[in-house]
Amino acid sequence: MQLIRINHAGAPRWGRLEEGTVHLLSGTLRGGGLSDSEDTVPFDPAVLLPPAEPSKIVCVGRNYADHIREMGHAGPGGSGLPAEPGIFLKGPNALAEPGGAVEYPEWTENFHFEGELALVIGQRAKNLKANEALGAVLGYTCALDLTARDRQKEDLQWFRAKSADRFCPLGPWLETQLDPTDLHIQTRINGEVRQDGRTSHMIFDPVQVLVYVSRYVTLEPGDIVLTGTPEGVGPLRRGDTVEVEVEGIGVLTTPIV
Ligand code: MG
Repeated sequence: MQLIRINHAGAPRWGRLEEGTVHLLSGTLRGGGLSDSEDTVPFDPAVLLPPAEPSKIVCVGRNYADHIREMGHAGPGGSGLPAEPGIFLKGPNALAEPGGAVEYPEWTENFHFEGELALVIGQRAKNLKANEALGAVLGYTCALDLTARDRQKEDLQWFRAKSADRFCPLGPWLETQLDPTDLHIQTRINGEVRQDGRTSHMIFDPVQVLVYVSRYVTLEPGDIVLTGTPEGVGPLRRGDTVEVEVEGIGVLTTPIV
């Protein structure tokens, strides 16, 4: 099932997308959940909103071995691989809608794209066990983890480098029936393939990430977990169009202006 969130009559509404028709749902994820309504509207990509209602966006860095190598990081024992997931936060202010433009900030000279698989949480979760972790996920979507790489390297905390306004385009919708363990993930810049990986190459798979994250924080309905990026990250230019495509989900398009 594809779940979308749209701007409808001036307010956010969730809907089920079926063959070009949106079956509008009542309620919110944070306000007790979604339920069917009688209303339908034709699908219009221009009114899509990010398909989440996050209190927080929890991100995993360095979760693909080939990306760790390209960033020049060494792990414990010189293996190059982290012993546990490296997590950081983006605030809800970082969300941007699918198709929406993102301004190249004037305070960075090295603005990078990172295409990622995102998990959106459907029920409150703390101390998840492995066998229940994916049950806490409402659906899967594409994310663009925009990063001011120069500021990230200078700063102790990655707050401005990772969590400035609109640094997290998300969408186009949630796919609810999906096995996330071995999906093709690709990032294209102006149509040229720049990242081309599989989610099976993650060091910590979505189950391990959810178990780890929920040890420390309560995941709330509508929260987002970003699972890291494959190799091939690089700088953007004004005028570029970024496409993040995850197999079984769709394409997230972000113009950089
Ligand atoms: Mg990332």
